[in-house]
Amino acid sequence: MQTAPIVDLDAPPSAFDRLADRSLAGEILSHDEALAVLATPDEALPDLLRAAFRVRSRHWGRRVKVCMLQNARSGLCPEDCGYCSQSAVSTADIETYRLLPREDLLAAARAAVDRGARRYCMVTSGRGPSDRDVDHFCEATREIKRQWPDLEICVSLGLMDEPKARRLADAGVGWVNHNLNTSERHHPAICSTHTYADRVATVKAAKAAGLHTCCGGIIGMGETDHDVVDLGLALRELGVDSLPLNFLHPIPGTPLGDRRPVDAGRALRALSLMRLLNPEADIRAAGGRERTLGSWQPLVLYPANSIFVAGYLTTPGQAAEEARAMCAAAGFELESEVESVPA
Ligand code: SF4
Repeated sequence: MQTAPIVDLDAPPSAFDRLADRSLAGEILSHDEALAVLATPDEALPDLLRAAFRVRSRHWGRRVKVCMLQNARSGLCPEDCGYCSQSAVSTADIETYRLLPREDLLAAARAAVDRGARRYCMVTSGRGPSDRDVDHFCEATREIKRQWPDLEICVSLGLMDEPKARRLADAGVGWVNHNLNTSERHHPAICSTHTYADRVATVKAAKAAGLHTCCGGIIGMGETDHDVVDLGLALRELGVDSLPLNFLHPIPGTPLGDRRPVDAGRALRALSLMRLLNPEADIRAAGGRERTLGSWQPLVLYPANSIFVAGYLTTPGQAAEEARAMCAAAGFELESEVESVPA
C-alpha cells in the first residue's frame, strides 16, 4: 500500500493557497477551477490538503466533531437507490425492523445525553414520512425536549414537504438530514423512483421551515469529475449547514455492489473541493471512510471537521475509541460534546 503523504503546514504557499484565499474571501471557485482541484497530481496532494486546512481552521480550528448513526427503521424501503442495502431492489442480508416505538427513541436520547451528546438524530429508511410518522417523531421530540431542553434534535426521514417540515420544527426539531447524493445529471443512473428535484425540494422545504440542513453526497457511484463539481456547487447554492461526504461502500446485493471503492487520493481531493466550495459548512467525512482511506484516514481531518464513528446504518465503521486516538495522534482536538444519532 502507498504511504500516506505528509502534510507540512509550514511549507511555502502553493497555487492552492490562492484558491483558499478566495474561498475565505467568499468567492466561489469556477467550474474549471474546481475540476483542476479534482485533477491534482499525487505529488501536489499535500499542498491541496494544506490549503483546505487553512479554510477549515478559520472556521473550525483543530476541532473535530464525532457523529454516530443508527436507524429508527431499517430496510423495507420501496425506493431503488442503487447504493442502498435497504432498498426494494437490494438482496443484501440486513436486519429489518419497523418504526421504533417512542419509548425506544426516548431511551436512545437518554443514552446520547449520558454520553455527552449535543445533538440526537432519528433516522428512518423509506421514501418519506407519512403523516403518522411525522406525528410519531413530533411526539417523541416534544417529550425529549421536555426532559432535555438543550439537546438538539435532528431527523433524517426522507422526502418531505414544507408543512411536514414545519410540524417537525414546531415540535422542537432543529435539523434535517437529506442528501443530494450526486449531480442532477447523474441522479437518474442511481435512482428511478424519485428525482434529484425531489431531493432539492426537500432541502428547500426544510430551510423554509427554519430548520438547519445537513446535506451531502456520495463519491464512487460512477460519476464524473463534472458531477462532483456540480454537487459541490449545488450544495453551496443551497447554503447547507452541514455537508456529509460518503465514499461508496459497495454492498453485495445492491445494484452498485460490484463497483470498485474510490481510491484514497480521490476521496481527499473531493473532500478538499467541498471545503473550498463550502468554507463555513461543517464538512463530514462520512460512510466508507475506513475502507476508502485505510491508513490515510487521519488526512481527512485537514479538509473535514467532523467524522462518523461506530458504523453506518448497515455497514461497520471505525470504533469510537480508535477514532479518538487517531485524532489525538494527528494533533486534532475532539469536541467534548459528541453528536450522536442512535435509536
Ligand atoms: S430512500 Fe433511503 S432507505 Fe430508501 S433506498 Fe433510498 S437511501 Fe435507501
